[in-house]
Amino acid sequence: MKRTKHRAYDDGPHAANIAGALLNWFAVHQRDLPWRRSRDAYRIWVSEIMLQQTRVETVRPYYERWLAQFPTLTALAEAPQEQVLKAWEGLGYYSRARNLHSAAQDVVARYGGEVPDDPDAVATLKGVGPYTAGAVLSIAFNRSVPAVDGNVMRLFSRLFLIEDDIMQPATRQGMEQLALALIPAGQAGNFNQALMELGALVCSPTSPKCLACPVAEYCQALAAGRQESLPVKAKAKAPRPVDVAAGVIFHEGRVLLVRRPEEGLLGGLWEFPGGERPAGATCEQALHQRIAESYGIELEIEGHLTDVRHVFTHLVWNLAACTARVAPGSPIPEESETLRWVTPDQISRYPLPVAHQKVAAALLACLSGNRQAKMRR
Ligand code: SF4
Repeated sequence: MKRTKHRAYDDGPHAANIAGALLNWFAVHQRDLPWRRSRDAYRIWVSEIMLQQTRVETVRPYYERWLAQFPTLTALAEAPQEQVLKAWEGLGYYSRARNLHSAAQDVVARYGGEVPDDPDAVATLKGVGPYTAGAVLSIAFNRSVPAVDGNVMRLFSRLFLIEDDIMQPATRQGMEQLALALIPAGQAGNFNQALMELGALVCSPTSPKCLACPVAEYCQALAAGRQESLPVKAKAKAPRPVDVAAGVIFHEGRVLLVRRPEEGLLGGLWEFPGGERPAGATCEQALHQRIAESYGIELEIEGHLTDVRHVFTHLVWNLAACTARVAPGSPIPEESETLRWVTPDQISRYPLPVAHQKVAAALLACLSGNRQAKMRR
């Protein structure tokens, strides 16, 4: 991996005291989390991937269900991708699931299903960056490797009064060296977890709880009254709005689902067909054009079903969904690896992006409302 020149940060004269205070605090205050009950590298790996950009409380039920379905790394490697994506459905950032699946297959092929405890080998696994590698190697194997996530960067910015932008790779790499210097011999797993836990529970983004902090007496930001203004973090660009049209297309009681390309946003998930709506085009106009171009189907649009707004890191989808029928005499594409005709009840078997799950829910509510109206007549 290409490394930019990192910044050098000094761990100061209190490194041993800081490490000791953190370990003592962690021994008493750590949360009882399901992934902390095991030192199994696969389980720790799964939890670390799920926890990226996702809250602990959201991850808990996913983690439990995941291990019920894929109790071992080999079980995950052997599962079909569709089952893996379905188990991930709703967690977002689906490339994490695809990469974990493919890395598990790699570990089975190259290491007989055992996660290697070698930093160079772990670093080559798909989707495993320096943070995940450090977390797995230190927690599962107690290897002295730093694991610096956003929580740790915030904590270090304050504890050592570091005013560099934490979005810069050089800052992260400097902090990794700082963390490495702080790791006490033989305590890497607990020390790395203590850093993350303190960042999550005490040195929180707003209103850090300095009165309850075990390293307050060493904290340079607290001494300078700067704890609320750190870390320095460049503002991310606002997500770009994109108008999208989706068609719930019926033919003989079935609905068309299509699979997104393997690579790219939401790769491998299923959805109602459609695509980007050109500026000024209605949902109906966009669907006529996109569905004819992509599948050769001529449509009869029935009407508007629902609108869904979904925010990604870099994009905001403003999705409009319409219901439609295949026009009489139109060609009907055959089922394939990327195209299925399913009954409305079967839609939930497929892994769908959250925005399309909402379209499916609106469809089912609409069908159920129609049924009830018919029964009342
Ligand atoms: S004293 Fe306050 S700002 Fe400093 S590390 Fe502790 S919680 Fe964070």
